[in-house]
Amino acid sequence: HAKSSGRNTVSFFDPSMQQAIQKRSLLERDLRNAILNNEFILYYQPKVDVTEHVIGYEALIRWQHSQQGLLPPAEFIQVAEECGQIINIGTWVLRQACLQLSLWAQSDKTQHLSIAINISEQQVSQDNFVETIIQAIDEFDCPPEKLELEITESLLMKDMLEVISKINQLKEKGISFAIDDFGTGYSSLNYLKQLPIDWLKIDRSFVHDMLNDTNDEAIVKTIIALSKTLGIKLIAEGVETKAQQEFLIHLGCPILQGNLFSKPLPLEQLGI
Ligand code: C2E
Ligand code: MG
Ligand code: MG
Ligand code: MG
Repeated sequence: HAKSSGRNTVSFFDPSMQQAIQKRSLLERDLRNAILNNEFILYYQPKVDVTEHVIGYEALIRWQHSQQGLLPPAEFIQVAEECGQIINIGTWVLRQACLQLSLWAQSDKTQHLSIAINISEQQVSQDNFVETIIQAIDEFDCPPEKLELEITESLLMKDMLEVISKINQLKEKGISFAIDDFGTGYSSLNYLKQLPIDWLKIDRSFVHDMLNDTNDEAIVKTIIALSKTLGIKLIAEGVETKAQQEFLIHLGCPILQGNLFSKPLPLEQLGI
């Protein structure tokens, strides 16, 4: 309803709605300046093998906002996707990861480490997606076999052949691909069979509940069996307890990620 909110003003929104709209447009404005102001930071969370050796890291973005402090992706990634800024942000993340991998490649102690970055659907849909990735790799002289791109199942519902072709072009360069949050989307087994991907990441919601919910346990077991059948490597995310770690290893999931080993940390705190 239109309601009178002052002497001469008529407003269609209640104050809380107006506030939300204003907050949103400020966020969009701030997002546009965030790269220039150098406000994004990558945090890194280790992926470990059965002996808890770190094989690589997932890079997870944070935003050091001048007024709001350190913001997690949940506070801004969706907005960035809706206003198109995700393209610039995605390129920033990519270049940052390539730079880091090229630095790690120079030392025996770090050259085995991989970095996985999260890729939004819109990035893959760009005509120059493949070129953007290859350009960054070349510019920083980054070892491509250490770069992993995490995509989600929803991407595959769109233009399957187009997506497969792009994945294949990058795989030829040595880059690998993971399906993130696996099991939460709608990808059919038939799709999965056609996909040239290297990794499935079991979504953390299943890991969280598998020890007290037989449905989640069954889903985890099914994903593990599936990965073996299709010859796709497997990683479980969101591992928080020793019991979850032991259960996953027992079931045959050898690579794990989660707060049990380390929460995501800024580079300086990785101890490498
Ligand atoms: P994701 O790719 O599934 O990343 C895993 C998320 O689980 C991270 O949240 C991580 O901090 C959290 N996590 C890891 N271990 C545990 C655990 O043991 N328990 C619990 N409860 N959570 C755990 P984060 O960093 O807040 O990121 C959330 C999501 O934001 C990511 O989910 C990813 O979809 C998106 N994201 C992060 N960085 C980027 C980026 O650079 N680009 C894009 N497009 N999306 C990103
Ligand atoms: Mg991820
Ligand atoms: Mg995930
Ligand atoms: Mg996710």
